[in-house]
Amino acid sequence: MHLNRFNLVVIGAGVLGCAVLTQMVGRYFSSVSIVDGDIVTQKNLKNQRLYSEKDAAEMLNKSRAAVAHLSALNSSVKYNSFPFYIGEQRILGVIKGADLVLDFTDNSETRLIINDACFKFKIPLLIASIRGKNGFFYLIDWKHACYNCIYTNLQKSYNENCANTHYESAMRLGALIEKELSRFIAGDNGFLFNSVSLNTNRAHSIEIAKDPHCGTCGASKHMHSLDHGFIQACGDGLKFSSQHKIDLRAVCRAFPAAIKKANGQAVFLGGVNKHVLISRTGDFLFTGYSRNEALHFISRLSGVNV
Ligand SMILES: [Zn+2]
Repeated sequence: MHLNRFNLVVIGAGVLGCAVLTQMVGRYFSSVSIVDGDIVTQKNLKNQRLYSEKDAAEMLNKSRAAVAHLSALNSSVKYNSFPFYIGEQRILGVIKGADLVLDFTDNSETRLIINDACFKFKIPLLIASIRGKNGFFYLIDWKHACYNCIYTNLQKSYNENCANTHYESAMRLGALIEKELSRFIAGDNGFLFNSVSLNTNRAHSIEIAKDPHCGTCGASKHMHSLDHGFIQACGDGLKFSSQHKIDLRAVCRAFPAAIKKANGQAVFLGGVNKHVLISRTGDFLFTGYSRNEALHFISRLSGVNV
């Protein structure tokens, strides 16, 4: 592997993304692309220590803030920022030419899109998640099970949500992921699915065979069925699938005083620790709202009962 040409793509710069990026800074990779549509808030600073108070005050996009801080720590790496949520339209352009993709997103729909795209180019994909004192990581080599092969089983046993995840646990899982990446760089193979208890740092490692009927990598494919509705996102953020859109102009008209522009996106401020991040394409993310409040907001603006 020519390290001077090694391109890494990191999707999701939240608790775990920050921990891994901080630990890997300046190592292995000549180019690192960071993808995240979220903005830095005051609440993030405790556990996402790549970011500063200034980032939160300026409502800076996470990928842009991460690139600024990492470039200051090590200027020999070329960092690229992709300040949006990944979707089917943009994924191929982002990962094309990558040698490795790290997926630190927090919902199955996005993970499946990333999984399908990486399979298309046969780019190795590391998926990882953390919740409280439990986490997992898995480097998909396309010879064994992919995310789509196992996601139904994962969902039954593992509720992905990084609320209540502390900095220390994320750093511990980040250190294990870094070890796995150094094995990968060294040309090692035989990657296993690792479920980790962060109290003891013990990993349960299992080999998972491909599902022959997998919709992504199987020989006889069937479609994966997804609920194209409401998705619980990371922490107290509530995300909807791209099927539902919020018209940015309608929000600006309805709440002119509560809109703040931040990095090409608009933020609707609904109160202390409550905001809705809205992109020009109509994708959005609620933070601090209950599910019912969020549904009410969307219904009011779209006129559609969601
Ligand atoms: Zn598969």
